[in-house]
Amino acid sequence: MRITRVETIPVAVPLRRPMNIASGAVAAGNHVIIRLHTDQGLTGIGEASPVASTDADTQRTIVSVIADRLAPRLVGRDPHRLPQLIGQVDRAVPGHQCAKAGIDIALHDLVGKSLGVPVFQLLGGRCRDRLDTLEADLWIDSPQAMAAAAGEAAARGVRAFEIKIGTDPAGDLQRVRAVREAVGPDARLRVDCNEGYDRGTAVAPLRAMEACRLDYIEQPLPRWDLRGMASLAAALDTPICADQSAYTRHDVFNLLAMQAADLICIKIAKSGLLHASQIHAACVVAGVRCTLGSMLPLGVGAAAIHHFAVGAPGVDVELSGVYGGATDYFTDDLVVQTAPDAAGITLSDAPGLGITLDERKLRHYAVA
Ligand SMILES: [Mg+2]
Repeated sequence: MRITRVETIPVAVPLRRPMNIASGAVAAGNHVIIRLHTDQGLTGIGEASPVASTDADTQRTIVSVIADRLAPRLVGRDPHRLPQLIGQVDRAVPGHQCAKAGIDIALHDLVGKSLGVPVFQLLGGRCRDRLDTLEADLWIDSPQAMAAAAGEAAARGVRAFEIKIGTDPAGDLQRVRAVREAVGPDARLRVDCNEGYDRGTAVAPLRAMEACRLDYIEQPLPRWDLRGMASLAAALDTPICADQSAYTRHDVFNLLAMQAADLICIKIAKSGLLHASQIHAACVVAGVRCTLGSMLPLGVGAAAIHHFAVGAPGVDVELSGVYGGATDYFTDDLVVQTAPDAAGITLSDAPGLGITLDERKLRHYAVA
């Protein structure tokens, strides 16, 4: 089998509510759907889902870097040589992790379809029968509004909450206290600062928040400040989780070597499935736990997360919960299948990612 063409389709799907995190606000998912066409009629589907202000990639850079740098490494090649091809894609251009992750997802879907096995089987095999998706992100807002959103989600059965903070330490403490009060003592809470604090002033407010019993504190400092992350990890009782500091395998090596994080947040949209598996393996060997985040993908990227979660035994999906589906956050999705039910996900043994694009919706949400 040979890859004959790499197709990119930029799309824009509105969010139900604008996402507001410390690095900026976003109203829509400006993502790129990727299709790898082959000489045997099979097609691999991938998705690149960059988050504005967090990713170096944008929708336009993804389309152009795939056309100019990545597609030439893939056309004419046998997709079954997956690790070799991903190595070539990785070396084709520095950075552009989101674009590379989208290609990685499409290659896994294609090889799974060709071999007649689900993607989780390519990653090592099923280790979970069902994924708990009762998890909610609370975007930055007033303490009252965040508490109300948390209470609403708790009433639906959500038990784990990620509180987005990082804009002002005094207000953040009020936000965390208000959410804890709204959801009661048993709910799991964590905060995500999205690089919003700095080394000199982070300890005091985070120490005050520890009284609200947080599972972990995600990315308190800028991604480059590994020394600062290491000193916070030593100073606080609550585990420190690295997200933006952990895009690549090499980033994770440095984090582990410097003891700069107690937890690594794996995201398929940052590293792709193959490298996420390698990051996971490195963390298992180092005795560092992994959580599984998302970049608010649509249905293709969500399926990739679910296959990874089903196939990676050491990833602490019980701690962080798992991204359910696009319609939890977006007004619509591009795949025929939607998230199976409100409480959890059970993956079938369908080949590849087991999803089908809705061609009508793809045309509707496509942008020039
Ligand atoms: Mg994060």
